[in-house]
Amino acid sequence: MSLAERAAREARLVRQATIAAACRKCEIGYTRCNNVYGEGDPCASLMVIGEGPGETEDRLGRPFVGRAGTLLDQMLAAIDLPREDVYICNTVKCRPTFKEGEKLRNRPPEPFEMANCRPYLDKQIEIIAPKVILALGAPAAKTFLGPKFLITKQRGIWYEGPAGIPLMVTFHPAYVLRQTGNTMIGVKREVWHDLKLVRAKLQEATLPSEAPEIEQATLFEV
Ligand code: SF4
Repeated sequence: MSLAERAAREARLVRQATIAAACRKCEIGYTRCNNVYGEGDPCASLMVIGEGPGETEDRLGRPFVGRAGTLLDQMLAAIDLPREDVYICNTVKCRPTFKEGEKLRNRPPEPFEMANCRPYLDKQIEIIAPKVILALGAPAAKTFLGPKFLITKQRGIWYEGPAGIPLMVTFHPAYVLRQTGNTMIGVKREVWHDLKLVRAKLQEATLPSEAPEIEQATLFEV
């Protein structure tokens, strides 16, 4: 990728982020602190898409920070991908919340919010043109695969994503963190299965003859 192309993509992403930051199509556009557009390599082969910003992401204006973000970084490192080499964003750019007393709590995005925000996501995909998309969690999967998608039964296989880009779905790191004991071990095993498929697909797309075997990462030892 030439430096000029990289700079052009960066500039387009900055322009789009500015447009998204001014958006108030949904009520959550008024309750959020920051519009969390996305971050990462504008020339990334892998685009990771979660459901929506949580409290920490909203406060810092960055996707996947906090505990779930740290686990995502570990998941990516397990397949030899530093976070900086990936592009990370969400289906909605504003934090979906509900009020509990005086506090705002996280909730999954509503389908109409994902639909409202879809043009921003589509534009990101168009600019970055990744080789593979990894959707984290059921809401992110549903934005591409429809409302009936069942993550427990339908993750871990390849789908044709937007613009024909191979799409994999796995569990959201926040979901992994909520599990305990043997359930967590089982979920980690499934995530590891999915990540290995992602790695293999990326290697197939970039260096078909030089794909090294990857070892199971400590994080996912069971
Ligand atoms: S979630 Fe998306 S569409 Fe809705 S207000 Fe925020 S930026 Fe606009």
